Amino acid sequence: YVKEREKNGFQLFTKEMNRDIYRKMMIEKELRTALELGEFELHYQPLMDIHTKKICGMEALIRWNNKNLGPVSPTEFIPIAEETGMIIRIGEWVLRTACEQNIRWQKTKYPPLKVGINISIRQLLDKNFVRKAAAIIKDSGLSPAYIDLEITESIAMYDPTLMIDKLKEIKAIGVSVSMDDFGTGYSSLSYLKKYPLDTLKIDRSFVSGITFHEDNKAIVNSIISMAKHLGIHVTAEGVEDEEEIRFLEQSQCDTIQGYAISRPLCGKEFERKFLMERAE
Ligand code: C2E
Ligand code: MG
Ligand code: MG
Ligand code: MG
Repeated sequence: YVKEREKNGFQLFTKEMNRDIYRKMMIEKELRTALELGEFELHYQPLMDIHTKKICGMEALIRWNNKNLGPVSPTEFIPIAEETGMIIRIGEWVLRTACEQNIRWQKTKYPPLKVGINISIRQLLDKNFVRKAAAIIKDSGLSPAYIDLEITESIAMYDPTLMIDKLKEIKAIGVSVSMDDFGTGYSSLSYLKKYPLDTLKIDRSFVSGITFHEDNKAIVNSIISMAKHLGIHVTAEGVEDEEEIRFLEQSQCDTIQGYAISRPLCGKEFERKFLMERAE
């Protein structure tokens, strides 16, 4: 009996492993044709100025709907795209698409908004990244002043000296730089000071439910005051209700992003909800 159970336990284990490996292989295979088939789309989530309560920017978030797999979350496929190197071309598509959308909206005479674009480490380490990004932005006709490149804290810590140089190179093309998911990595404060950062985006794990967690309140407050001392702008991610907004307001946070303001929306919906009414 015991033997039988062990055997079944083992089978279950391998079945699960097989399922994960199979899914990953499917994603990898389908990703290869996703760009040509036009399966990607960008959604946009608004950023709000906490004091004026006006929309002051947006973040572009990739969406993938595959004919065989259905919708696949970026948290699942981006790591695979990074591993396989496909993120380079996908990342170029994201940048080009976000720039083109932004310039179209500006030409429609909507008030201009900055767009945040997520950049993965694999892209940053590509020695042509800065040159290619500059070319894509230039071709689109969008002023680089309307682009914010978001890099995660873990990227920044990968090789601080290299990254500080990279960021300086990037900033020289006229875009701003945010550190995303801040608080989840282990950046040393002495390095943080050396990074040419414009904004810290506090990770949503500290922000969502903040009003119930005294520890998180202390963490968020100290991140904000540290950023203020360094002259860096602060955005809180994952703001889900009014109480959190009030807390962040008192804490002198600058900008908020999260479901309390809006979920990420497709371009058309974003335009209808956040651009059209502003133009009137
Ligand atoms: P991120 O850059 O930190 O983006 C914020 C994520 O939090 C988004 O998830 C967004 O939908 C979600 N979010 C926003 N507000 C709330 C909230 O109030 N509550 C909760 N629970 N979640 C909220 P999403 O779109 O699934 O993206 C996940 C991650 O995938 C992103 O995290 C980013 O790291 C990566 N990603 C997305 N688009 C791209 C892209 O174009 N390129 C690269 N390299 N990575 C991307
Ligand atoms: Mg981001
Ligand atoms: Mg984030
Ligand atoms: Mg995140």
